[in-house]
Amino acid sequence: MIRILLLFILIGTSVWIAVWFADHPGRVEIEALGYRIHTEQVGILVLAIVLLVVIAAAIYRFWRSLRRAPGRIAEHRGASRRQRGYQALTQGMVAVAAGDSREAMRSARKADSLLNEPPLTMLLSAQAAQLDGDEDAARRYFEAMLSEPEMAFLGVRGLLMQAVRRDDTEEALRLAGKAQALRPNTPWVLKQLLASQVSAKQWEAADKTLHDAMRAGAIDAASGRVQRAALLVESSRDALTSGDHAGATKRARQAHELDPNLVPATVTYVRCLAEDGKARRAVKTLETAWTKSPHPDLASAYAALGADDEEPLARVKRIQRLMNLRDDHPESHIAVARVSLAARLWGEARRHLELAATESRPARVLRLFADLEEQESGDLKAARGFLDETASADPDHGWYCDSCGSVAEKWHACCDNCGGFATLEWRLPPGVPAAYESEPVARISSD
Ligand SMILES: [Zn+2]
Repeated sequence: MIRILLLFILIGTSVWIAVWFADHPGRVEIEALGYRIHTEQVGILVLAIVLLVVIAAAIYRFWRSLRRAPGRIAEHRGASRRQRGYQALTQGMVAVAAGDSREAMRSARKADSLLNEPPLTMLLSAQAAQLDGDEDAARRYFEAMLSEPEMAFLGVRGLLMQAVRRDDTEEALRLAGKAQALRPNTPWVLKQLLASQVSAKQWEAADKTLHDAMRAGAIDAASGRVQRAALLVESSRDALTSGDHAGATKRARQAHELDPNLVPATVTYVRCLAEDGKARRAVKTLETAWTKSPHPDLASAYAALGADDEEPLARVKRIQRLMNLRDDHPESHIAVARVSLAARLWGEARRHLELAATESRPARVLRLFADLEEQESGDLKAARGFLDETASADPDHGWYCDSCGSVAEKWHACCDNCGGFATLEWRLPPGVPAAYESEPVARISSD
């Protein structure tokens, strides 16, 4: 619009000048370099000069654009090269996501040759190599990434994942520490560091990492509490082994307070209390736990609280006191039957075994029946019958892993089978219908 306006003004002015010169004729004579130009029409001379200037300007512009052309062509080619490079990078990433190793490799090579930005293409190359099963090549790419400040974290991550996959605990621990130094509050880093420290049985360090992970929101408060209790039980057991009795007691008490339902925490705490001569508190702690949820390990710990030279009959009396707190629970009757057998109280043992077996007959109870038959009357045939029945016994409670479903003989913070942390739970085997859950048995009088 402005251009058109300017054009009109220009044309208007030119016409006005032409008319002015026509109205005011004059004469111009130029003498230069031996030539002599003269004209009566000044208007034509002015027009010729204007034309000359316009032609000169046009020639100058053309020459300038010619001079700039190579740069512009190169610029254009560079841009299109970058564009093709990014396109290859995108295709490569899509191929990685689709699991197409050949396409991923091809795109990685193409992107690498088109883009002069190694950090961008290294990750793709590493992923393509991994997809192709070439872990060594992937490792070389990840290691090369370590020297690029903006890629170092991704390099560490790649190497860490490789170490985890090949079960190299030591290397995983080292790399997880390095990753945490680079990005201290990244949730997966904290979780991986915790897992590595747990596998390496570095309970104290794991406790600190768990604290950081909870603060960073990587682990919620409820599961954090359960995991912390598990860590503290293990570290308390270690302290007991190394003779640090005060440390062991402190950790066991913390574990028991964090997760009162964690039987190993209660048992370890009670052991510490008993060694400290705090028998009354030990008894109280076990009785409270038993009232909430009877467990064979609690019964064993309770039995162990007696003096070394305790008479078998005195022990039966003590365990009966425990049973009275939950005489609706099979575990109570199993506990009494066990000590009654040791005290050769056959009738008492049989009565409680039968009460324990009203709802279900797990192998544990059948084996006690076999012991009873053998010890009471030497009836090996009857004992054999019970042992044979164990093959088709009802499912029993055990330390089952929530993660892999395997059963462990003793509780540990880590599953021996899958390495899961704080996954062992006292329960029936996975997949057993709830009908098998221990129903309260008939209450009996305690006489
Ligand atoms: Zn497991």
